[in-house]
Amino acid sequence: MEKRLVQEVRRRAEGRCEYCRMPEPFYPAPFVIDHIIARQHGGATHTENLALACFRCNLYKDPNIAGLDPLLGELAPLFHPRHDSWADHFAWTGAELVGRTAIGRATVAVLAINHPDSVAVRESLIAEGVFDR
Ligand SMILES: [Zn+2]
Repeated sequence: MEKRLVQEVRRRAEGRCEYCRMPEPFYPAPFVIDHIIARQHGGATHTENLALACFRCNLYKDPNIAGLDPLLGELAPLFHPRHDSWADHFAWTGAELVGRTAIGRATVAVLAINHPDSVAVRESLIAEGVFDR
């Protein structure tokens, strides 16, 4: 991927995962550039289809573009950082992220955003005052 694209995506994300909001400086692995719509589905390598993602969100998202809303059991698209407003779809309950919509709930589930390891890291960062929710 072109260095210019990587720099633009990183600058726009302000050092945070665009899905779970984890700050990169406090995360044990470098963040990656995620294709929001995976190349497998025809997603382009263009800034409008790229997002900064932490290792875990990227790992679990893989080429997924939708998931089941665990509340309604219906298919919902995953959160799209370029088209959707984060605050419309997510809210914090302590260190756990709660989906406010079908998109938010499906994204939290598919990306395993409340994996016990992630919650533990967020709890530590919140206690240290370096995780801004
Ligand atoms: Zn993340």
